[in-house]
Amino acid sequence: MPMPPLKSRVPLLLAELDRLYPAAECELDFASPFQLLVAVILSAQCTDRRVNQVTPALFARYPDAAALAAADPAELEELIRPTGFFRAKAKNLRACAAALVERHGGEVPEALDDLTALPGVGRKTANCVRGDAFGLPGITVDTHVGRLARRLGLTKHDDPVKAEFALMKLLPEASWTRGSHQIILHGRRVCHARRPLCSDCTLAAFCPQIGVLKSSSPQGASRKPSPRPGRSGRPDDLKT
Ligand code: SF4
Repeated sequence: MPMPPLKSRVPLLLAELDRLYPAAECELDFASPFQLLVAVILSAQCTDRRVNQVTPALFARYPDAAALAAADPAELEELIRPTGFFRAKAKNLRACAAALVERHGGEVPEALDDLTALPGVGRKTANCVRGDAFGLPGITVDTHVGRLARRLGLTKHDDPVKAEFALMKLLPEASWTRGSHQIILHGRRVCHARRPLCSDCTLAAFCPQIGVLKSSSPQGASRKPSPRPGRSGRPDDLKT
């Protein structure tokens, strides 16, 4: 059966993602925009589960931006050590917290430009915070979203920012935040980077599988996907 044109594939894709992952949301534990921002920074190259193990003690020790900005570097590093790259993350966290205090009275701003002006905060982190802490629409292009968007024929861009703008034109705004979480889940469970499970994928009818090596599917097809409904992971910066 010929592949439907892109415009007619998008609603089909979104409907199937809703069916597969109806409750997709951020898996990081947080109780405020500040906590989410900290958790997202910590989640680079680290699982959400590991971050969630670290943050209760971290948030108890540093309950707000002022406390975090004044943190003893060695103590902070020790608290976040399990998340990896702890020296760089500690430096970013302290600098980011100091900027929050200096520029925003210790509060996390909602505006994308204000967020991306913070040390250690790129568009991925900013969109995640805006979407999950403030309910503002944003597409978080991490490694999964970028890869799936290209395979699905939604964009040709490798550059995350160009891909984000292409997706913003293509997808309805109401789907941006939830769709990001859903696509991340699908990337983790089915459309793996090396061996996408195309033969078991329910998106296959409207996926041109662009760039997918034909040899990759049969190997991966022996493994059962588990596209069960569930919560998504945080739109991670570097995790695969
Ligand atoms: S059909 Fe294959 S390439 Fe397309 S989304 Fe599914 S697993 Fe990924």
